[in-house]
Amino acid sequence: MPTADLASETTAALTASELIALEDQYGAHNYHPLDVVITHASGAWVTDIDGKRYLDFLAAYSAVNQGHCHPAILAAMIEQARKVTLTSRAFRNDQLPLLYRDLHALTGFEMALPMNSGVEAVETAIKAARKWGLTVKGVPAGTAEILVCGNNFHGRTIAVVGFSSESQYKCGFGPFPTGFKQVPFGDVEAIRASIKPNTVAILVEPVQGEAGIIVPPAGYLRELRELCDEHDLLLMCDEIQSGLGRTGKLFAFEHDNIRPDVCIIGKALSGGFYPVSAVLASREILGVFTPGDHGSTFGGNPLACAVARAALKVLVDEDLPARSADLGAYALARLQSLNLPQIVAVRGKGLWIGLELNIKARPICEALKDRGLLCKETHDTVIRLAPPLMISKEDLAWGLDQIEAVLKAN
Ligand SMILES: *Cc1c(COP(=O)(O)O)cnc(C)c1O
Repeated sequence: MPTADLASETTAALTASELIALEDQYGAHNYHPLDVVITHASGAWVTDIDGKRYLDFLAAYSAVNQGHCHPAILAAMIEQARKVTLTSRAFRNDQLPLLYRDLHALTGFEMALPMNSGVEAVETAIKAARKWGLTVKGVPAGTAEILVCGNNFHGRTIAVVGFSSESQYKCGFGPFPTGFKQVPFGDVEAIRASIKPNTVAILVEPVQGEAGIIVPPAGYLRELRELCDEHDLLLMCDEIQSGLGRTGKLFAFEHDNIRPDVCIIGKALSGGFYPVSAVLASREILGVFTPGDHGSTFGGNPLACAVARAALKVLVDEDLPARSADLGAYALARLQSLNLPQIVAVRGKGLWIGLELNIKARPICEALKDRGLLCKETHDTVIRLAPPLMISKEDLAWGLDQIEAVLKAN
């Protein structure tokens, strides 16, 4: 057992390059971050260890839709942290019922099941769909199949990467669970052709985020809804990134005027303070779980519930979905009018825009960082623009100015 002198220096004693060296020496290299060492953040802006400010156009993959360190969520977190943080669900706590009530009031779903990370909620939805298939639909045990989309992203567990079409997400990690079938995204006929008697659900992102902000043809979800009704399948929307205001509505499925059977949320559910996720569905579906079927030590803990309630209240009080719609329309129009040779496509919904280039996106993100704008490439050639939804129009315009300037210089 090594004896450690657990160093007492604060980050103030270390330089950016010393911190980066520590991270790279002792941490697994499962990310390739831009070399900006953030020490503070507020609203749409972050500050690095040298005091340089950056406008955040990623918002932690839409986990901070409410803006960094939102004071109302911070206050709720501090207040709850002083009272009780974790009871485990061996006992009840006074915060979980209130989160259930708020989720029901805001979304209309009959029941919720709280988890922590997004992918745990996806796994929970998969378990619910399979057990619903067995106990409600009558699909023979162990044969349920779930249809998933090409280029999906639902997280990183073994089951979930097992049905990814991205070879890097899977390579080296098999064997994988069976019971999933991939069909091309946006293609209703391909889904129709894949439905079999043992199909229990369709799992879909209403807009594919990681894939590069891919918006399906209008009416896609409506047609999936009809297919699901016709064949007694569950429509399960992964709204972890598209939900909670990002596309200009509370949920992206609202653009098609439908309701899924299962809605999976995470990311902005905590405004970036704490991992909180949930599965929302009817009593018929979430009712398949009986005590002992499923659980999580931290899921539904009182700190998470207090934070999530405050984060949801900010979305409503600040009308963030409407802001996303307005600011998104402005940003999309500006980028679409740029007419630069490197831009292949500009697409999006609300303040969530994919800028597809015919050059590598990483050097552009590096150049933007030098100008004080934080963006991240997704895949090789797409820049995902997803600022906090509370961003001011002036700041948004400034960020777009930087993108225009960098593209003109490259
Ligand atoms: C981020 C994301 C997930 C996974 O969430 P984690 O909290 O990283 O596990 C799942 N689905 C979608 C659509 C996401 O964007």
